Amino acid sequence: MSDARHGWRKKDTSVVAIGEKTHKVLKSEHVTKAHDIVSQCHEKVGIVRIYQYMKDKDVHNVRVGVHCHDRNLSINKNIREETETLNQNDTWHCLKAMKTAMKKISSGPQYSKGKTWSFQLSDKVEPVATHVHWCIRNCNQQKEILKSSLLNIVDHYKNIHTGCSESSKCRKDTNYEPPRIVISDPVAEKTTCECHPWIEYLQICK
Ligand SMILES: [Zn+2]
Repeated sequence: MSDARHGWRKKDTSVVAIGEKTHKVLKSEHVTKAHDIVSQCHEKVGIVRIYQYMKDKDVHNVRVGVHCHDRNLSINKNIREETETLNQNDTWHCLKAMKTAMKKISSGPQYSKGKTWSFQLSDKVEPVATHVHWCIRNCNQQKEILKSSLLNIVDHYKNIHTGCSESSKCRKDTNYEPPRIVISDPVAEKTTCECHPWIEYLQICK
């Protein structure tokens, strides 16, 4: 995780990176106008330095897996283009877009029920978002693993668990009862597959 604090009259900036689990400071960088005249760029300068520091093979050789930060667009671009790191901000954007898409196919007026939306999806906006988030965190940053686990979500809600993770409840518990409405309605399946909100995530994830 990183954050930037601007000094008095934005003359300088401190950029601090802390560990996601340990919450210990990994590295802090102080950037002044002498390094970059534009104070808006200070956060990025600091981040680039921190990444270099982490990457330094002889000293640390730390691979940054996930980077959380507030929504600084130049940092987003830098993480996406210059590093192998999964950008937590992209995840956030994707989940938001996905929930919006899910809401459209899980609720609506009575006359279009069963046509453009299905009642069987009405209890799945949050669970699917949680599921997608789990997939992202457990894909080891490998696109193919991510893709298949995302595609498996529909099967999981159809109560078919052959593609689910062996560590998940639906595989381990022999008396597993799905807590949500089981998808049997072809409209529910079709709209979920067509909306494929996670496709957007896959594009971001290269
Ligand atoms: Zn399952």
